[in-house]
Amino acid sequence: MYQGECHCGAVSFEISEAPEKLVDCNCSICRRIGALWGHVSIDSVNINSPAEGTTAYVQGDKTLAVHTCKSCGCTTHWESLQADGEYMAVNFRMCEPEVIEQFRIRKFDGADSWKFLD
Ligand SMILES: [Zn+2]
Repeated sequence: MYQGECHCGAVSFEISEAPEKLVDCNCSICRRIGALWGHVSIDSVNINSPAEGTTAYVQGDKTLAVHTCKSCGCTTHWESLQADGEYMAVNFRMCEPEVIEQFRIRKFDGADSWKFLD
């Protein structure tokens, strides 16, 4: 079980499945957020947030919504907007450093080739 929360604690999560890796992506939004994404099945994640506690940012091809705490501005996760979306990603930067250290971090070229760079 992995746990994390935004800086103010309004938004927190628990994940019951270990992601295979954490993804450091260089696409236009990820490089700005500085997220370390852990991709997991929707069923394995519990997001605890007050009603409308996050801002959902949708851009480009509108396939996903990036959620950010309205109070402290930390990006906590993204969710698929596709009806058959089975995966989501949680920003492991919301976890303690000891948790992040357990995973391999892979650089993903989301800006261009859509391939891992390592
Ligand atoms: Zn917050």
